[in-house]
Amino acid sequence: MEMSPEEMQKQKEMVLSMCTCPSCPTWVECGEKGGFCFPAIGKSGCISEEKGCICTGCPVYEKMELKNMYYCIRGSEKEQMGM
Ligand code: SF4
Ligand code: SF4
Repeated sequence: MEMSPEEMQKQKEMVLSMCTCPSCPTWVECGEKGGFCFPAIGKSGCISEEKGCICTGCPVYEKMELKNMYYCIRGSEKEQMGM
């Protein structure tokens, strides 16, 4: 089911408020806010080296039933699922 723009915005804010990316060893500080698993956000523009991923311990991971990792480099959950 497609989300309305309002729902999408709400979800995005929820993801960003809970995202633990800034505490991750792979994180590179370049003014981004994380939430790379979310399709409307997607890959990081500055992170390129995989040094460990803490997504599986993030509250969003459980809430959104995520299955992948390294969203910052490999793309959002949808992208990694080939959608
Ligand atoms: S699952 Fe990963 S990318 Fe998504 S909000 Fe959590 S820490 Fe950030
Ligand atoms: S997506 Fe995973 S690897 Fe990338 S910064 Fe977030 S927690 Fe770290």
